[in-house]
Amino acid sequence: KVRVRFAPSPTGALHLGGVRTALYDYLFAKNQGGEFVLRIEDTDTARYVEGAEDYIMNSLEWCGIIPDESPRVGGPYAPYRQSERRDIYDRYKEQILKTEYAYLAFDTPEELDAIRKDFEAKGDVFSYNHQTRQQLKNSISLSQDEVQKLLDAKVPYVVRFKMPVDRTLNLQDIIRGNFSVNTNTLDDKVLIKNDGMPTYHFANVVDDFEMKISHVIRGEEWLPSMPLHVLLYEAMNWEAPEFAHLSLILKPEGKGKLSKRDGAKFGFPVFPMNFKDPESDEIWKGYKESGYFPEAFINMTALLGWTPANDREIVSMDEMIAEFDLHKVHKAGARFDPQKAKWFNQEYLKLKSNEEVLELLKEVEEVKALNLSDDKLLKIVSLMKERATFVIDIYNDGKFFFEAPTSYDEKALKKAWNDTTSAILKDFAGKLETSEFDSETLKEAIHHFAEEHSLGMGKVMMPLRLALVGELKGPDVPDIMNIIGKEETLARLEKAIS
Ligand code: GLU
Repeated sequence: KVRVRFAPSPTGALHLGGVRTALYDYLFAKNQGGEFVLRIEDTDTARYVEGAEDYIMNSLEWCGIIPDESPRVGGPYAPYRQSERRDIYDRYKEQILKTEYAYLAFDTPEELDAIRKDFEAKGDVFSYNHQTRQQLKNSISLSQDEVQKLLDAKVPYVVRFKMPVDRTLNLQDIIRGNFSVNTNTLDDKVLIKNDGMPTYHFANVVDDFEMKISHVIRGEEWLPSMPLHVLLYEAMNWEAPEFAHLSLILKPEGKGKLSKRDGAKFGFPVFPMNFKDPESDEIWKGYKESGYFPEAFINMTALLGWTPANDREIVSMDEMIAEFDLHKVHKAGARFDPQKAKWFNQEYLKLKSNEEVLELLKEVEEVKALNLSDDKLLKIVSLMKERATFVIDIYNDGKFFFEAPTSYDEKALKKAWNDTTSAILKDFAGKLETSEFDSETLKEAIHHFAEEHSLGMGKVMMPLRLALVGELKGPDVPDIMNIIGKEETLARLEKAIS
């Protein structure tokens, strides 16, 4: 049975890379008819950030990445918060201490610091490993009696992993392929801290075993931990899950890892939801607040490292689930392109019906305040949807529908206006007094007027547009006139003429 977990630490905002990991976890699990588990790894109390856990769960929910098991919904392997699983780790701590793979270490941080400095003075780097462990204060170097004395005296200790000497590990990663590591290059990591809490490595492996996780899919930054994790399974006599390490998401330039600063730099943040940075106290607005549709955001994210069949770009969550293949995830880093992200949103906006967009537009605070009829808003949507990237663009780029221009664009004035323009518009305004105001009739009226006065169409259309919009852009002039109505049209013409 395929069981995959996303195991974030509640230490801050969820980065785009984190969302992609969760998404690939989810897509793979669902593709295989398996389960997707959310586990909160909060053993590191020093880095714990209030509110981060809720934020992570809300973000995933907004993305439509819904865990089958989580701290929120529970599940057969609850609790799903590591801070609540202490008794389980205690049990396995006893178990691993009975093997050859773990030992107690009594060195104080001060002692280790001093040793580290000694090494540095000699131009060396200290590592707690197979070479140094004999000289340090632990249950390998000390006699049983000495160890017992320390324990009786309640001297604090950590549990360390005893890295086997000179073994070549042949490891398999679904995305990276096969690779080997010699254990002599690895150190004796702490498994249990002196306060009795497990470290990431120990808690993570115990939980993956306890929660029957079949596939560990996570970011590339965890690849260096894989040898230790595989050896922990061996130590405990457990079958290891399969591993897949995802490549980095790169800056738009293609070099270096994407950071949260990049998000801000390119006009919108890389996080999927509002989050207060506890360090800077800055509010990081996310994709959601920037107006992205979750479907567009997820579609864009999925394609950072995976390509659907026939190079299709617009794929729904269901299609992705049907097609996703971990073996086809790219080994190379994926370049993040903010323009492309916008393109995705635009495509999803186009895919929505005018009625759907109307409902979204009505949610916009500024639009609510205008109190316009659905009928009018729907017309505006139909004219503006194709040009917009976000729903709010319909309001921002269509301001002229709601209010008269307060100024006229300089360049446009030069282009559209001359000595005769006022007279022409005045004449035309007179014609409009008695005209019907549907787009067709207005279009004909403009044509007719231009012909009658032997004027090129531009001579009429440009100043009209300038009077109505304030610049030379927007949808067809008759459509604008139709929407704002006769009274407003005449008022704007009047103002432009005077
Ligand atoms: N808690 C780790 C993190 O924050 C989980 C890494 C893993 O998936 O093993 O990314």
